[in-house]
Amino acid sequence: MAGAAWLQPIFKPHPIFPAFCRRPTFPAILHRFSSFSSAGQLVFTTNRFTPVHAQAKRGFSLKEDEVASAADVEFETPLKIVEYPDPILRAKNKRIDSFDDNLKKLVDEMFDIMYKTDGIGLSAPQVGLNVQLMVFNPVGERGQGEEIVLVNPRVSRYSQKTRLFNEGCLSFPGIYADVQRPESVKIDARDINGARFTVNLSGLPARVFQHEFDHLQGILFFDRMTEGVLESISDQLQALEKKYEDITGLPSPERIESSKRMKLKAAAGFGKS
Ligand SMILES: [Zn+2]
Repeated sequence: MAGAAWLQPIFKPHPIFPAFCRRPTFPAILHRFSSFSSAGQLVFTTNRFTPVHAQAKRGFSLKEDEVASAADVEFETPLKIVEYPDPILRAKNKRIDSFDDNLKKLVDEMFDIMYKTDGIGLSAPQVGLNVQLMVFNPVGERGQGEEIVLVNPRVSRYSQKTRLFNEGCLSFPGIYADVQRPESVKIDARDINGARFTVNLSGLPARVFQHEFDHLQGILFFDRMTEGVLESISDQLQALEKKYEDITGLPSPERIESSKRMKLKAAAGFGKS
């Protein structure tokens, strides 16, 4: 981070809440931080987290992370949003270890398409690149709020307290539904220059982060919906599956009906990454 400016509370009521999530129904507040340590790590003031017990069922462990090659971060502009059920959204995402101009250009392009599509968060697999990178700006307007870039993020703690929130996703155009998630998270990540940092998020930033972090684990927001909520959007999901089949001429790589069966066996948990 160039500084800790984005850590200040950045939320203002916004008349047109963008597509990632609808207007928050709770006050979105970032924790205040007391200082940057000499190591560049953020030092927190008040945090109350409980240990995580459940391991994410679909998470990838650190040991398995492959490092991205230059080819893995090659892209063409303008970027295009990958929609469900494209298998890119379920593929494994590689760790980034090259913090070069190409990465900075990619981040710029990701913010560009995020704003153009009225999003407030975007992960690399959503633009066809299977690498561990996300960008977000909870205000969703260029020049407002703060642009946040997280490379190779990990979650070290989830709060026990959870909240229900109406989410959308740029890879699921027009679909909005309630998802329960922890209210706060503690994150370790690298910034655009490769510097490691630790941060606590709560409120809307924590919500956006967790949604995008799931993308980096190949988890999609409907994986976390209750059966009833999933049922309410199943027609829309099936319409996207049909659209994919019409465009590609291939059978949909997954179907909501089978997802529902999987959910009965094992819901995606929240755990350390
Ligand atoms: Zn999404």
